[in-house]
This record gives sequence, structure tokens and C-alpha cells, in this order.
Amino acid sequence: MREKRSRQPKYWGVVAFDFYVVFGVSVNTIKCFPVLAVSISLAFGPASCDRSQDASRVEAQNPVQQPSESDASLPNLSLPPDDGPPPKIDGERAMKYVQEIVAFGPRPLGSASHKKVEDYILAHLKGDTLENDIFTAATPEGKLPVHNIIAKFAGTKDGIIIIASHYDTNYPLRKTSFVGANDGGSSSGLLLEIANQLRGKKLDGYSVWLVWDDAEEAIKPDGSGGTPNEMPFEEDSLYGITHLADKWQADGTLKNVKAFLLADMVGDADLNIEHDTNSTPWLESVVYQAASRLGYQSHFFARTMPVDDDHIPFVKRGIACADLIDFDYGYNDVYWHTTQDTLDKLSPKSLTIVGDTMLETIRLLGKMNPLPPK
Ligand code: ZN
Repeated sequence: MREKRSRQPKYWGVVAFDFYVVFGVSVNTIKCFPVLAVSISLAFGPASCDRSQDASRVEAQNPVQQPSESDASLPNLSLPPDDGPPPKIDGERAMKYVQEIVAFGPRPLGSASHKKVEDYILAHLKGDTLENDIFTAATPEGKLPVHNIIAKFAGTKDGIIIIASHYDTNYPLRKTSFVGANDGGSSSGLLLEIANQLRGKKLDGYSVWLVWDDAEEAIKPDGSGGTPNEMPFEEDSLYGITHLADKWQADGTLKNVKAFLLADMVGDADLNIEHDTNSTPWLESVVYQAASRLGYQSHFFARTMPVDDDHIPFVKRGIACADLIDFDYGYNDVYWHTTQDTLDKLSPKSLTIVGDTMLETIRLLGKMNPLPPK
């Protein structure tokens, strides 16, 4: 994850889709980030930083409540039942992958350890259908090699669901011991475990493409860790995923993409996935219902904020996107983009929660016919 932004949340009203009755449902507003808290508290009054309160308020919500006057409501879709056995990610195995990725050390663009992690991911995908998107990015620090890795698992329905995670580590911190255990490591290890779950089956739904994307992080200091912003983030980040979105737009692949799910910073033992207002409301609603069906809802959407991350190039191209990110990594996100982003902060349980929820989301999407308009 690269940068926090200070922007007002979007306002959602009641939305109606052709086949889905939709209500606005109250979800809590952001509470704890100083930068964002200023603008939001001006708009909505003082707010508490007690996350346990936030979580309980979300859990207490009835999904068919009438619309509230919340700043950021979550559409409530009437989803078809999913009576199959619930998904079951092996969180311990996912954590082992995270540990092995982190063991290579810092993996900034152009480094030897970055290449080792590329090889490590590819070794785990032996025999799978792969696409390698390799190019040279022109960055403020010159030309740097970028390698997106895509593994494709075929489904029975026409269409593709993307699950993405960046695996590079923060470039400005490349000369420190920063290993990005949570930031880049957790989600990349989780995707390897999701590949295990998808492999060797004919998926009863859309095809699923897993993307380990590269060069998500800014090359110049991005304002994190107390450093000043050196460049507008739009011009200096998301190199890999933007290249992939352009490529798939040019070759027609993008037309078949039904949804884009992003995992980033999902390993924190104290897991609180944000309700991201840059994501697509109906898809966020499917994610929340998937989490609720598995009993994980207290880990989701207690706070609302706009997040700029790898999903943005797909949002801009009209694809339904959901960013699953926990942007409260340590009190006030104190571990983010610091050498404190280490394995001891992570939990296999968190990887299980996010992995299961993503797989359940995919199953629900496969049963929704048609999907809401983008
Ligand atoms: Zn980051």
C-alpha cells in the first residue's frame, strides 16, 4: 500500500438495480486517521476512536434496515443462497508462504531478492496456465524492470474475476531492513494458498485469474513514514497494474472481467478491513455479505475511507472493484512503511478470514445472474 489521502468520502443514496432491491445501510465513518479525521469530523461531528464500538455497531446492523442518513451507505443486495460447503483456506500454509517470501529480505524493484521472489511465486504455479507481463517502467529513478505474474483458473461461466496482490516492497526504504511482511507479503502469500484452493477443479462459476502485480509502491518518498511527498502519487506508483489494465484493454480481455478483488495488508492479527469508498458499492456489499455468511463480519467495514491502491486503474476503466485492505496496522497505522512491518504482527487467522471471504465472494458472484451494472 502506498499512500494515504485526504479526501471527502462519497455520498451514496438509495440505488436500484434491475434485479436487486437495494437499500442504503449505515456503515460507520472513519474515526482514527488524523489527516482524514479533520475533514470528516468537520462534516459529521466528533467521533470516537474506539474500534470495538465500531465493530459492534456494524455487527448489530440488520442488512435489510431502511436507509439511514449515514455519510457512506452500503447497498444491500438480495443475493441468491449459497448452500455449498463454506470455503476453507489453510491459513497456516498461507502464513508459511508469507514467511518464505519475507525470508528473501527487502524486494524492491530491480533487486536480486525481487528476482528470487518472482522465481519463488512461479515455482509454486508450475503446471498452471500463466501469463507473464514483463516490461520496463520509466520511473523518477530511471528505468526499472517490472514483472506481473498471472495464473488463470478456468470456470464454467463466461467471464473473469481478478484477485490481485502486489509483491514488491517500498522502494524508498530499499536500503533499510523493511521487508513488508504485511504490505506486499501477506496478500502475496495468501494468493498462493488461494491458487491451491482453485487448482485441479472446474470452477462452478466465473474463471478466476490471480495476479501478483509489481511496482505498486511509489519510487520517490510518498509522504509515509514521516517523509515529505516528492511527487504526486498519480504519477509515481501503480506501474505494474496500470500496465496490465492498459494491455487487457487493448487486447479485449477487459471486456470479460466481471470483478476485480484486491488484497493488500490483510495479515494484521488485529484485522479490520476498511469500507473503501473508491471501490464499487454493490461489490463491497457482496463482500460484506460473504463475510457475514462466514461469521467474519466484525472484521469488515467498521470504518469508511477512500483508499488509493492497485484497484484504481480498473475502477477508472469501469470494472467493479473491491479493495480488501486493513489500513490500521498498529495504533494509527504506526507500522505501515516502517521497519516494524514484520511477521510477528501477523496472524494465520487473518489470512483465513480474508481468503475465505474472497472465495465466498467469488461463489456468490457466480450465482448472481445477471451481475449489477458496473
Ligand atoms: Zn506500501
